[in-house]
Amino acid sequence: MQAMVLEQPRTPLRLRDIPEPEPGDGQLLIEVHACAVCRTDLHIADGELTRPKLPLVPGHMIVGTVAGSGERVGVPWLGWTDGTCRYCTSGRENLCDAARFTGYDIDGGYAEYVVADERFCFPIPAAYSDLDAAPLLCAGLIGYRAYGMTGDAQKLGIYGFGDAAHIITQVALHEGRRVFAFTRGDDAEGQRFAREIGAEWAGDSLGPPPEELDAAIIFAPVGPLVPAALRAVAKGGVVVCAGIHMSDIPAFPYDILWGERVLRSVANLTREDGERFLRVAPQVPVRTEVQTFALDEANEALDSLRGGRIRGAAVLQLRA
Ligand SMILES: [Zn+2]
Ligand SMILES: [Zn+2]
Repeated sequence: MQAMVLEQPRTPLRLRDIPEPEPGDGQLLIEVHACAVCRTDLHIADGELTRPKLPLVPGHMIVGTVAGSGERVGVPWLGWTDGTCRYCTSGRENLCDAARFTGYDIDGGYAEYVVADERFCFPIPAAYSDLDAAPLLCAGLIGYRAYGMTGDAQKLGIYGFGDAAHIITQVALHEGRRVFAFTRGDDAEGQRFAREIGAEWAGDSLGPPPEELDAAIIFAPVGPLVPAALRAVAKGGVVVCAGIHMSDIPAFPYDILWGERVLRSVANLTREDGERFLRVAPQVPVRTEVQTFALDEANEALDSLRGGRIRGAAVLQLRA
C-alpha cells in the first residue's frame, strides 16, 4: 500500500510502498478515506516531539471503513492505554504513562490502510462526510476538552485561530458564550476567518483585549502568549494551554497570576471526551472548513500549516 513515511525528523515525508498492516486480536483493519493534518504532526516531523517510532506513518484524525464490515469509524490520537495504572483507573486515561498514540507510537493515517485497537475507535456521526468528520477527531475532541476546562466563562478568548479554534468557537457560540479571537497582528486573513465563524472581535494576540476575558484557550504553540493571556483574563479566570508543544514561556510577574487566576494545560483525550464531543458536534451543528490534499501532497499540507496558510483544517483525501 502507499503511505507517506517519516524516516527521520526534519526531513520531508516520503511516498513509500509498504506492506498492508495486519490486525491482531481486538484490532481493526481500516481502509482510510480521509486523515486530517494536526499541528502535532508538524511537531513530530520537525523533531519537537522527540520519541516517534521510526520510520513512522503520521496521522491521527482518521476516518475510514472497517475492512470486511464497511462500518465507518474514526481513529483518534489516543491509540492504547494499559487500563490498570492509577490514571486509567481514576478516569484519567489521557494521562496514562504507558499510553500509545496514533501516528506517533503506532502507524497512523497518512496511508491507504491503518490498524487500530477497536476499543479506541469511534463511530462517526452520519451527518458528516468523511472529509468534514476528520478534523473532529483531534482538533474537535481535544479542543472540546480544553473548552470544558473554561467552566462557564462567558467571555472566552481563543489564541491561534486554526482547526481547533474554528470548531470550538461554534460550540461556544451555540452555548451562548462570546468569543474573542487573537491571532498574529499581521494575520488579517486569520482575523477575517475568525469573524466569519462568529467571533465578535478578532485582533492582535499581543495587544490588549477589547474587554476583560473570563477565560482563554491557547491553541498556538507560542510561549509569549501565556503572559499575554494571563493579562487578558479577569481574577479567577483560567488560561488553558491546549497544544502538546509550546515554545518557552517568558518569565512574568506574579502579579498577573495573582487573583486566583489559573494556568493549566490539557493533555490528550479520554474516550469519554470523544463520545461526548461526537454527540455534541451534530447538535450544534459544528461545520468544519477543510482544505483537501492528496496523500502524496502531505508535505505541502504540513508546509501550509506551518506557514499559517490553512483556513480551518487541512485534510488528506485518500478515497472520494
Ligand atoms: Zn492532533
Ligand atoms: Zn494507564
